[in-house]
Amino acid sequence: MKGPNEEFQYSMSVLDMRDIYSHIISDDAEFPEIMVFDELEDGSNVVRYRIDDYDFEDVFYVKKCDNIFENVCEEIVNPKAKVIKAEDFLYHQLDSEMMKTWYSVTLMISEILNINCPQVTFHACFRNGDASNFGNQGWVVLPDMFSSQFITMDTIIAHELRHEWQHIHHPEWFEHYITGENNNIKEYCLQPAEIDAEAFARKLIGIVWGVDLFNHKELEVKSALRKRRDEIDIIISRKKINILRVLFEQDEQPDDYSKNI
Ligand SMILES: [Zn+2]
Repeated sequence: MKGPNEEFQYSMSVLDMRDIYSHIISDDAEFPEIMVFDELEDGSNVVRYRIDDYDFEDVFYVKKCDNIFENVCEEIVNPKAKVIKAEDFLYHQLDSEMMKTWYSVTLMISEILNINCPQVTFHACFRNGDASNFGNQGWVVLPDMFSSQFITMDTIIAHELRHEWQHIHHPEWFEHYITGENNNIKEYCLQPAEIDAEAFARKLIGIVWGVDLFNHKELEVKSALRKRRDEIDIIISRKKINILRVLFEQDEQPDDYSKNI
């Protein structure tokens, strides 16, 4: 096992993951987490990133090409890829089945928003409910939540994908955008991009699960979210609602997302 090549700068690919995730979801086999890059070290098609100290499946770094799914399948059946020591950042606790569930939710919400499906990756270090979107770079970082937290995770996915939609329809919202770090949290929440993303997410997931998610302990934020909720039109078919709901066990009780905020 060797360390990462410091000379090499990975560049996460911007691509529509719809076909690849659809293949993965509909295949009965277990799949690793994959991340697609424009180029890999030494021109490889697949490199395995491994964390030795944990019971954690390799993450496959895959080179962007026309045969991404086939190259992943080939490496699963016939492992030949170089193994590289991964940063702890890559670690998470989701198994293949749970990742497929979140890929399905991501695909479905991308379809509702009529946007390309971005790459999603999962990280334990985001488990406190954080997530990230790297500004129209086609990459969304998600926490490794389990199905018991499905309303929270659905809402996080919907929020981050709405940011992808905003970069197409409202790029001006990011001209003076401030991040959540080291800034006033209320000021951060009240930005147009954040209000719109959160209002969209709570409205959509509220419709899917038949719950009201419009509580917020900060009154000014709550009324801004409700105002934006009433301006956003969401058209979602009964079929899509049913597909989203059957991804989860019928006896699972929804978590209370509003309590987390
Ligand atoms: Zn946001």
